[in-house]
Amino acid sequence: MTNRRSAIILLLVGVWLAAPSPAVAQTITIVVKAARLIDGRGGPPLEPAMVRITGERIAEVASTLVVPAGATIIDLGNATLLPGLIDLHTHLTDRDDVHWESALTTTTPPEAALWGARNARVTLMAGFTTCRDMGPTWPYVDVELRKAIDAGAIPGPRLLVAGNYVSSTGGAGDARQFSIYLDVPFVRNLADGPEEIVKAVRTNFKYGADFIKILATGAVLSKGITPGAQQYSDAEIQAAVTEATRWGRPVAAHAHGADGIKAAIRAGVRTIDHGSYLDDEAVAMLKQHPATFYVPTLALGSYIQESSTVPESEKARGRVVTEIAVGGFKRALAANLPIGLATDAPVMPHGLNAREIEYRVLLGEPPMHAIVAATSLNAEILGMQDRVGSVTAGKLADLIAVPINPLTNMSALRDVRFVMKGGTVFKDDLSGTTRPRP
Ligand SMILES: [Zn+2]
Repeated sequence: MTNRRSAIILLLVGVWLAAPSPAVAQTITIVVKAARLIDGRGGPPLEPAMVRITGERIAEVASTLVVPAGATIIDLGNATLLPGLIDLHTHLTDRDDVHWESALTTTTPPEAALWGARNARVTLMAGFTTCRDMGPTWPYVDVELRKAIDAGAIPGPRLLVAGNYVSSTGGAGDARQFSIYLDVPFVRNLADGPEEIVKAVRTNFKYGADFIKILATGAVLSKGITPGAQQYSDAEIQAAVTEATRWGRPVAAHAHGADGIKAAIRAGVRTIDHGSYLDDEAVAMLKQHPATFYVPTLALGSYIQESSTVPESEKARGRVVTEIAVGGFKRALAANLPIGLATDAPVMPHGLNAREIEYRVLLGEPPMHAIVAATSLNAEILGMQDRVGSVTAGKLADLIAVPINPLTNMSALRDVRFVMKGGTVFKDDLSGTTRPRP
């Protein structure tokens, strides 16, 4: 018995010794120094700032702190530190030079996975350490991307993934926009009626989705009906939310038109993505439903117009919807609604995600408000506020740095020079001392 027990203990030690480097990194202490810290909670910056990191978590934040013996010091000089940024709406496995409706006939799942790895790295290096990925065209490639990132096989943001987004037949997420004589048997993301939707929700969770994405209305970049039109009935949206709630997980609703936005709020979705036709009634409803958040995607408008793959008909839709969406954003801002931050990359190219923050400031949002949206507010929307979203003791050490103070010039976020995720340095073009992980 004793021998057997010691054999088991030896086995466990063996497993621990063989574990990848993150397990070892837990004992390492790093102190990051910079001229200024914007901690993500909206208060005045801390100047100067020191952050002590033990393993993957932040242990202490102060203007000056005692550096423990043996700690690695990373001195970022005159830079401004911020929490890792969060994007609530990406499509990391999609390329910006392939229209998603062509992807099923011109690309393969391995191609999506490889480009997903590339896009994940580009997004992380741009300062985004957490992303909610709103779905690949090839189902569940995002689940594999998340696993590879979590296992340390490739660099990328920590991900929450949609798996296989749920659309009505002929709806905004129906990627089989080709002849009825063609089929792609492995892509089954269409569900009509509450029963099929319940099945789709269960199937998604079975295969590793973290949340459910449904397409409640038409879309800009789709051959289906107009973005303003509701595509899922109130009962269908409700069925998705009721079933996902049983699993303890949220639903994100792609919704442009006002009717679809309101049906999704009534059903209790977590996020209204795009939310373009947000009117006064929708704003009032969101105030009454504080667990539902408006998550616009605004900066993509100009990229749609410049795209070489988007047809003129969809560009025309884009011009109309973008203008209306800017009006909705200003309405939400005036009403002091919390406004999540998202990009819909690659509609805007991967890696330019921070342009959304810059654009929102251009539209009148106070700079600190926009930074809070991209950090602690987004963390709260994801239900991850205990782990990410601010530079405070106890959180995961997701830190970025830029050479210019973004509060005086938000374009500073175009030039992220330092990226740490979970205590591991992935980029350091500032201190000249740390060798980032490749
Ligand atoms: Zn999208």
